Amino acid sequence: MGEKTFAKIWGEVKAFLTLRSLKVRIFVIILIVGIIPSVFMRAAIVDNYEERAVDYRISSVQNQLLVVSNHLLNNNYLVTYKSDEPAYISSRAVIDAELEMISNLYEGRVMIIDSRLKVIKDTYGISEGKTIISEEVIRCLRGENTYNYDQEHGYIEMTTPIVDSSAAGGEEKSSGKVAGVMLTSISNGSIVEMMESLNRNSLVIEELMIVVIVALALVLSVVLTKPFARVTEAVNEMSAGYSDREISVPDYTETSQIVDAFNQLMRQMKVLDDSRQEFVANVSHELKTPMASVKVLADSLLMQENAPAELYREFMEDIVSEIDRENRIITDLLALVKMDKKAQELNIAALNINDLTELILKRLRPIARKKDVEVVFESMRTVVAEVDEVKITLVMTNLVENSIKYNKEHGWVKVELDADHQFFTFRVSDSGLGIPEEELPHIYERFYRVDKSHSREIGGTGLGLAITKSAVLMHRGSITATSVEGEGSCFTVRIPLTYISQ
Ligand code: ADP
Repeated sequence: MGEKTFAKIWGEVKAFLTLRSLKVRIFVIILIVGIIPSVFMRAAIVDNYEERAVDYRISSVQNQLLVVSNHLLNNNYLVTYKSDEPAYISSRAVIDAELEMISNLYEGRVMIIDSRLKVIKDTYGISEGKTIISEEVIRCLRGENTYNYDQEHGYIEMTTPIVDSSAAGGEEKSSGKVAGVMLTSISNGSIVEMMESLNRNSLVIEELMIVVIVALALVLSVVLTKPFARVTEAVNEMSAGYSDREISVPDYTETSQIVDAFNQLMRQMKVLDDSRQEFVANVSHELKTPMASVKVLADSLLMQENAPAELYREFMEDIVSEIDRENRIITDLLALVKMDKKAQELNIAALNINDLTELILKRLRPIARKKDVEVVFESMRTVVAEVDEVKITLVMTNLVENSIKYNKEHGWVKVELDADHQFFTFRVSDSGLGIPEEELPHIYERFYRVDKSHSREIGGTGLGLAITKSAVLMHRGSITATSVEGEGSCFTVRIPLTYISQ
């Protein structure tokens, strides 16, 4: 038992690893379909937030810088930054305060650079008087706004041109002269904080979702595959012999189909089993009949004291004929069993069917003569076919022998041989007793005899036509019979000229 459970568990583990189990597949599919989108969604939400927050921060800083830039120009800040005139000093102080405010507000640094790339104001106070040569500043002097988000170091750097629109004389800002550049770098601190909190929250939701999805996948994979487990259970129950009822698992179309196919198979097996049992019963019955006769004959001899020698002789002759009969049944049964062996090889060779027929008729004519039955042979052409000689001889002999056996006194049997390009036809017709129409479908069954006592009387076993049909089918041929009761019968065998294997 323990070993069995271990084997079962090991089987399930193996099925899991190789994804062969439907349960595991459903589980994995639900997991993938559920988890991947939620992970991507979280990443997309956080990314999207970052992009929008950076854009928003840049545009709000730039708006403020624009205001300051106007103040700068109005107060000639760029030109008078060194002047000692009290009016300039005070206006400069106002602008410096504005710049300080921006840099404090955004945790950053603002530098004002004039058109000769000289830093004239730095809110950090360290670069004033220095010259800055950077691509962004130069591009900005040409009127371009630039910005650069350094995610790694956590700051946004931007350049804003200080445009003197009055210098160009035009109204439009773009056509104005760039008098200087504001180089600003601000921290992204609040964005990062916000992102971190967003990330934390969405991670919690994501983890919750993963737990729910795993649970859902587990439940669904078990529930959805349950009907298949029920099929296995029902089939196992059946093979264990608990029930011989038809099984039914109608949960899915697929399980219904499997179960229907299985029930169909069981029905076929039952038919097969029934026919085997019937065959065994028939065989025993057929074999017992001659034995019973022998026993009766022997008993009656034993019972009689001083039975005359003639009586002994007569009874012994009867006993011998019963033993012959038993022998015939056994020989026929063996022939039939041999035919049933599917794997059995046929001994195929090209054979002149005309010669074979002549030979068979020569052998059977003495029996026909006894009953005064005339046997005629009509051949339309010479037929050479690839057949197993022994089996075809059996077919022809059985058919002609039946036509003689079940004939009237002074009757006739006609054997015809013909062929087309594909098949040869062997037809035996007679003026015999005929077979009632309702019996015709059964004559190929084992031990089937139209008139049991008559057939037994003339030495029939009821196996001849079963053997004949088997042999014909082995050659991929066909056998048909027509008959009118009291007038005669006609058996037609069609066999391919060339043997077709499989
Ligand atoms: P059997 O050994 O009894 O002849 P068969 O299988 O050869 O068995 O034939 C089955 C039954 O079919 C026979 O018992 C007989 O009643 C009937 N039958 C076969 N061939 C003929 C025929 N040519 N004419 C009339 N009845 C036939």
